[in-house]
Amino acid sequence: MKVRTTTDSRLSTIDFNNLGFGAGLSDHIFICEYKNGAWGEGSIEPYGALKQGLGLHALHYGQAVFEGQKAYRQADGSIAIFRPERNWERLNKSGARMLIPELPKEIFMEGLLELIRIDSEWVPRGENTALYLRPFLFSSSEFVAARPSEEYTFAIVTSPVGELYTKPVKVKIEQHFTRAAQGGVGFAKAAGNYGGAFLATRKAVEEGFNQVLWTDHADHAYLEEAGTMNVAFVIHGRLITPALSDRILEGITRESILILAKEWGIPVEERRISVDEIVAAAKDGSLEEAFGMGTAAVVSPIDGLGYHEAIIPVPAPENGVAMRVKSALADIRYGRAADRHQWMTQI
Ligand SMILES: *Cc1c(COP(=O)(O)O)cnc(C)c1O
Repeated sequence: MKVRTTTDSRLSTIDFNNLGFGAGLSDHIFICEYKNGAWGEGSIEPYGALKQGLGLHALHYGQAVFEGQKAYRQADGSIAIFRPERNWERLNKSGARMLIPELPKEIFMEGLLELIRIDSEWVPRGENTALYLRPFLFSSSEFVAARPSEEYTFAIVTSPVGELYTKPVKVKIEQHFTRAAQGGVGFAKAAGNYGGAFLATRKAVEEGFNQVLWTDHADHAYLEEAGTMNVAFVIHGRLITPALSDRILEGITRESILILAKEWGIPVEERRISVDEIVAAAKDGSLEEAFGMGTAAVVSPIDGLGYHEAIIPVPAPENGVAMRVKSALADIRYGRAADRHQWMTQI
């Protein structure tokens, strides 16, 4: 792998005591190009090295998919990443839906590991911090005709991050806008899914919520996801989450939380969950918890549901299932607990 390092590091411009989410991008990127039907050799370059013109296919037609994962500073000072093979698998699953050629595992893994090694000083050391990793695939031919691109680029950028949400959130049960439809691309981490969600989220924020709780495209009667997170509920001690479908993104946090919950003997249900069921459970007190699950925030407790102009309160206990899985996952990720599932890859 070719490595060209920067002579002008921006590391000293980052305030590691006040990390937001995703603003300061690290010094280097990994780049690999697909041309003439084959992936080339990847290289590490300074952040600004990639130059693209305005004919860039991805900007016009959106053949673009991404991943989100994190590198964690371990208790002993080393660095490890969480279940990276699952991100590689999902990147290609998303890519296949968008007609993007499959990226070989070696390119993904070697690029990721080498990039983190080179920018290892960007992996923060504070409590609940991490280096956010953003691998992505995009169409990179330059022409303006609505047909698939011939060239593609795989790139990785990284950014030191703090915690996303620190307080419980209020979510609006969204019954007008739709994130994903049957037969569509909701299960893929496809760029346009996020651009398409911003308007609904903006309106919810203007109404005093933190996020939207997406419902199904057909009747807006079933709950699907919480913003860009999977969603779960605890009712009568049972952990309930919407079953996967082609409208729901298969979260690696969701998958890991379900594994832990089952090991702890918590009954887990993956099924359809109606708005009516959750509203009724919130009102009669049987809804013990509701929370989002995703890499960025890990677990994001929900303490209010916006429904028909009202806010229905939901308990967000300090010692409930959400907080228990959050600290169990943190202990594994930061190397404070035994990695019994072989989830961590050391850098
Ligand atoms: C990324 C994402 C998730 C969470 O996936 P993780 O692998 O847990 O980070 C859930 N829903 C949507 C829509 C997402 O984009």
